Amino acid sequence: MDYHVALVTDVAAALATSPAGLDAGTARQRLAEHGPNQLADTQQKTIWLLLLHQLADVMILVLLAAAGVSVLIGEAKSAGVILAIVVMNAIIGFVQEYRADKAMEALQKMAASHAQVLRGGQPQAVLTAELVPGDVVLLEAGNVIPADVRFLEAHALKVDESSLTGESGNVEKTVEPLPPAEYPLGDRLNLGYKGTSVTNGRATAYVVATGMGTELGKIAALIQTAEVVTPLQKRLGTLGKRLSVAALVVGSLFFWVGWLRGEPWEDLLLVSISLAIAALPEALPALVTVSLALGAGRLMQSHALIRKLPAVETLGSVTYICTDKTGTLTLNQMTVDGLYEVPAVALPGLGGRNALLTALALNTDATCDPENQWLGDSTEVALARYAADKDYARAALEEPFPRLAELPFDSERKCMSTLHQTPDGVLVLTKGAAGSLYKQLTSSHQADLADLTRRVDAQAARGYRVLAYGAKLLPEMPADLTPAAVETDLLFLGFASLMDPPREEARQAVAECKTAGIIPVMITGDHKLTAQAIAEKLGIISSEEELVLTGPELAALDEPGFAAVVEKVRVYARVDPAQKLRIISALQARHQFVAMTGDGVNDAPALKNADIGIAMGIGGTEVAKEAAAMILLDDNFATIVQAVRHGRRIYDNILKFIRYILAGSAGEIIALFCAPFFGLPVPLLAIHILWINLITDGLPGLALAYEPAEENNMQRPPIDPRQTIFADGLGWFILGIGVLVGGLTIAMQAWSIHRGLPHWQTMAFSVLCFSQLGMALAIRSRRESIFSLGLLSNKPMLGAVVLTVGLHLLILYVPVCNELFSTQPLTLAELGITVAVASVVFWVVEIQKLIVRRRGAAVVTQPSSTSV
Ligand code: ADP
Ligand code: MG
Repeated sequence: MDYHVALVTDVAAALATSPAGLDAGTARQRLAEHGPNQLADTQQKTIWLLLLHQLADVMILVLLAAAGVSVLIGEAKSAGVILAIVVMNAIIGFVQEYRADKAMEALQKMAASHAQVLRGGQPQAVLTAELVPGDVVLLEAGNVIPADVRFLEAHALKVDESSLTGESGNVEKTVEPLPPAEYPLGDRLNLGYKGTSVTNGRATAYVVATGMGTELGKIAALIQTAEVVTPLQKRLGTLGKRLSVAALVVGSLFFWVGWLRGEPWEDLLLVSISLAIAALPEALPALVTVSLALGAGRLMQSHALIRKLPAVETLGSVTYICTDKTGTLTLNQMTVDGLYEVPAVALPGLGGRNALLTALALNTDATCDPENQWLGDSTEVALARYAADKDYARAALEEPFPRLAELPFDSERKCMSTLHQTPDGVLVLTKGAAGSLYKQLTSSHQADLADLTRRVDAQAARGYRVLAYGAKLLPEMPADLTPAAVETDLLFLGFASLMDPPREEARQAVAECKTAGIIPVMITGDHKLTAQAIAEKLGIISSEEELVLTGPELAALDEPGFAAVVEKVRVYARVDPAQKLRIISALQARHQFVAMTGDGVNDAPALKNADIGIAMGIGGTEVAKEAAAMILLDDNFATIVQAVRHGRRIYDNILKFIRYILAGSAGEIIALFCAPFFGLPVPLLAIHILWINLITDGLPGLALAYEPAEENNMQRPPIDPRQTIFADGLGWFILGIGVLVGGLTIAMQAWSIHRGLPHWQTMAFSVLCFSQLGMALAIRSRRESIFSLGLLSNKPMLGAVVLTVGLHLLILYVPVCNELFSTQPLTLAELGITVAVASVVFWVVEIQKLIVRRRGAAVVTQPSSTSV
């Protein structure tokens, strides 16, 4: 059926429903019949795909080549072990990735959206996925339309359909049926489509199609949600490619040098392949994904829901947090502290009632349910409740003065109006920001304006949000129901002062930001003086140099003018959401990394453009949530700061295992490559290298992801997102440790060969293994000594080290393993020597940290700047 040419009643009949909605039983039955209201996931990862993914790795190919070569030269046993390791590695990789996938899936479930529907006449929230044809949905500005719908009631309804039709701009929607004809999607003015968003007004609508039956579903196959790659993963990918090339060069170099020296090619080939294996840190990208996904899980526990994985990694780079005031920095618990009434306003038609209190009660969208619970925006609730307490209840007053129409609040106009029937005509009530109302007053008020402004400013300077009221009486309903026509020639009734106390934890979080080199900036639609008073209470403004800028002042600045001050502005007052974009781009042009919060529909562009867009979980609209990278489940500023702290820790830990794995690989390469130049045989077999890469690197490497935050985590400047991972001396560290580990391995080998010990190879192998473990322990912190951290502060690491030592002893002392891994049991003395030699690496890293600490202490005594 073509729903757009049919009458609303015919649509209801066709869908076997009514304006009261379906009952629960019918809804359940239809859900079973039509399936969930979801787009089929074309990219659902199957278990097989995941496994296949593991096998398609470059490293696996190299390993398979190694196995092939082993068979070729008659080493079937080695080939078997290599193959076993390939399988094991694939399984471990698979388990890791599966866990990461599950973690992300759980997060997506948390982010699942709800829709307001009428079921059996009662409004209730249901999961969007559970909507069925015939359901009656309630829509308002900020909602994403959850299914294809036909409107049956619409008030000032506007919908942004650009996501579907590609045409930007808002489409006004109606309920009238269209004359029979062919209409393109964009012209079906009484239909709403899944995935488009309501930008204005509100509506009631019948669901006509769900899931893959919707217009969005029809094109869903065309929309491929690309797999996200974080900046770090991208850089690691490049690094991996470079290392592969390096591995090939080193491998072939080794082969040709040996060939020229007349060594047997079979041995050379095996060692060359071992070298290539040693150089490839193929486990790294997977480890990064896993720790990002697990990190997202951890963030969840601190009430920050990650929607886009890269945010986990980039949180640590934030330099500016631009945040809404109401509800985020404050409690959003408004109370009216007092009224100011203009004396002697003559407003007929109210039957002797107080005009200001009547306006408070009638000009509101707040409702009071039978259990005396107030619902609605906190400003609205505070005002309506105050009136109700003075015996001016909304419900009671709407009987003599029924509402005829409304002009909803919007944050650009900063006003809202309602129109009511009275015996003497149509009463227009307007409330809003005092500044916005001044321009709408009758000319008779010109004389009082100075006095009014003074009174309002005095209240604002004490931190009050001031809402002013105006009114007028019209003989009949105006023909033109637009703000420009209705909100004019008003009589000023008075104003109410509302207090919204700042959050205590926000004040601490602001202080924490400042020591962490992050600048908190307040953005609000409120009065300049109100905003400034609250900002001072929270510590956001603490000196004369820190500026407060209003929207109109910002609009008057040109680009260079704004660029000159943007880094000093701490409060933006009376801004409209469109200006958020300008703030972001000005900061980004100064190389700042900007986190920006938002809740409304018109915040969506800012949320998309910020480096990290943060939507409110409680007060935020769905449109804002979909645009954001992170959702604050508790709408609390302190949570943002906590997320930054987590982000820094996660990034730190990723860097730690990059250090660990690359330094270990460097050690292996140097040992393999350099031994022949000292006239020594090849110290290690391919199997040994594989063992080290898989077990000795893998287990402790993973445990590094569990390392708690460094103590000075929030006392240092943010991570510069432009800096490479090799900044901060990482390259030198890898080279230094590589030379040390390689050198110790070769020294061990040379010494035991010299002493005529038959187990020299096992000894060299053990030194390499144990030195990696020592490094893993020491590398846990960038600066603190392991003795001050304590072994127990990272139990997974302790477990990984103990397990790795146990496994190593297993392959040294179990005869079958000796056979398979070409190892020999060491005597206790030999074992002791290898441990002692290997421990050098541990001590060297500890000493390096001691030097870092000494130097760090020297740096701290210099005057440090908190800005970046
Ligand atoms: P915030 O940044 O604090 O969320 P808003 O955009 O909600 O600011 O509000 C901006 C201004 O609009 C307020 O200072 C107030 O004067 C006015 N205002 C807020 N809510 C309403 C409302 N429900 N009706 C009329 N005016 C309002
Ligand atoms: Mg608000």
